[in-house]
Amino acid sequence: MEKIIGYINAHRQRYIDELIDIVKIPSISSSREHRPYVQRCAEVLKDQMLRAGLRRAQIMPTPGHPVVYGEWLEAPGKPTVLIYGHYDVQPVEPLDAWITPPFEPDIRQGELYGRGTVDDKGQLYIHLKAVEAWLKNEGRLPVNVKFIAEGEEEIGSLHLEEFLRQHKDLLQADVVIISDTPMLDRGIPSICYGLRGLTYMEIEVQGPTTDLHSGSFGGIVANPANVLCEIIARLKDERGRVTIPGFYDKVVPLSEQERQNLARLPFDEQAYFQLTGAPAPFGEEGFTMLERLWARPTLDVNGLISGHTGEGEKTIIPARALAKVSMRLVPDQDPDEIARLFEDYVRHIAPPTVRVTVRKCSTGVGFLASYEHPAFQAAIRALEKGFGRRAVFIREGGSIPFVGTIYGILQRPCILLGFGLPDENSHAPNEKLNLENYHRGIISCAYLYQKLADVDFELG
Ligand SMILES: [Zn+2]
Repeated sequence: MEKIIGYINAHRQRYIDELIDIVKIPSISSSREHRPYVQRCAEVLKDQMLRAGLRRAQIMPTPGHPVVYGEWLEAPGKPTVLIYGHYDVQPVEPLDAWITPPFEPDIRQGELYGRGTVDDKGQLYIHLKAVEAWLKNEGRLPVNVKFIAEGEEEIGSLHLEEFLRQHKDLLQADVVIISDTPMLDRGIPSICYGLRGLTYMEIEVQGPTTDLHSGSFGGIVANPANVLCEIIARLKDERGRVTIPGFYDKVVPLSEQERQNLARLPFDEQAYFQLTGAPAPFGEEGFTMLERLWARPTLDVNGLISGHTGEGEKTIIPARALAKVSMRLVPDQDPDEIARLFEDYVRHIAPPTVRVTVRKCSTGVGFLASYEHPAFQAAIRALEKGFGRRAVFIREGGSIPFVGTIYGILQRPCILLGFGLPDENSHAPNEKLNLENYHRGIISCAYLYQKLADVDFELG
């Protein structure tokens, strides 16, 4: 291992430079205009896989953005590790909130700023660089490795399930490693065993056929903006509970043991809340902050569009109003069932004075695993090598649809090994990646492959 670690140390700067190159590509999956960049990013990633020494790398089409697949399978009799990441990124608005432009990566105080640095190009590269260090020094890997890099994670992994089912044989593995989550805090290596799912909806309220003069018509027609606000106000009560009938029916409750484990984690509620800048915390009564974040479902308006939003005044009754509403779900809530309950309830409370359309957008299932499998012990030992500290087990409030889906298909242990930090602004302006974590992550993964080679997967 000494040679490999020496190589990782010696190539530290080049590893950063190569990450900077791919962060420069604006692979925003939600934007039609950025389609060529998403494609370009897939090509760069494929090239990087081959340069790292993978035997095969290819861009595999889907009806949306392609998947980049790579493999090195020359360790007969050794376990096969499937590594997942994504190369698409979130949109960058509001642009004026960025200190340096999102696609002109900049290093300040040991952090690399840019869209996609932590979510998820940096985390994907951590694995690629660890693989390179093995192959360039030993000419081999201690395990078989398959990479799957998705281009639609930030738009709900629209075509992923179909892709995974179609290529089930190609993706067969003994263990799945996903690096797309944050650590609990600076210097605390973390393994994540639970994710929330997601149901994303749109509510459209249509009133008059066009915007109306509020002097000539105000008072005789229902205002879609007002009606939409009334509907939204009835989705949650003042204690933070969602009021949709049946919403909580399938929620797996926290066991006393798990509550104790979560309470013991070195987590500073106040410091974490301060990241928000909001004047006071809010959340469902009867739960701690970590419980609310990791083990309880939510309902949030993500966007509202209606009426005049430009400068000055315009006295109108808008013709329509639109809300984007998403719900973070926990095991065992079924995202499609939740979409149905949501739609039924919204229709039920909508007044007859407007036309209401409810649309289901993306969905993803949550994930909750036991961490008994010996592969988790291998991950703990590897992280200890990289970070000099024992890892903690955490859950995560975000969603990675891949995890629930691949677990359903392969039924193999899924280890969520995250190298991000909670204050790294994923999905927000000034996204960044701590370069020390990038480096330590690469070292950890180099050890991870070594330690996984000795795990007996027949037992698991
Ligand atoms: Zn991500």
